[in-house]
Amino acid sequence: MPMQQTIARFVGAAEWQRLKWRKGRRVMQSQQCPICSKDVQPNARYPRYVCDACASRAASSDGRLLDFSNVDISGGFVARYSDTGELYLHHECFIDAVKCHADEARFGGIVIEAVGL
Ligand SMILES: [Zn+2]
Repeated sequence: MPMQQTIARFVGAAEWQRLKWRKGRRVMQSQQCPICSKDVQPNARYPRYVCDACASRAASSDGRLLDFSNVDISGGFVARYSDTGELYLHHECFIDAVKCHADEARFGGIVIEAVGL
């Protein structure tokens, strides 16, 4: 009897490990915004990109809101201050005091990734 209990416990632990591993895989397949933890579309190329809501709050180090866009339809990267439209010649930005990096996304558009978390 005590022997059977030991085996049952051992199998239970192995099963638990297996489930934990599967859960680990599931976690890998989902992705969260590093700023607000909201679920975002998983993207292996940009594992730390921020969601649209957070991206819209991107600001310079002195707290001025920024707009990022492509130069034209073929891509490129341009950043401007939202208030004056003046060019912002950096890729660095801050969202909720987290340092981020904005750049042209590989397949068009702009991607902002958290770097300082
Ligand atoms: Zn977010």
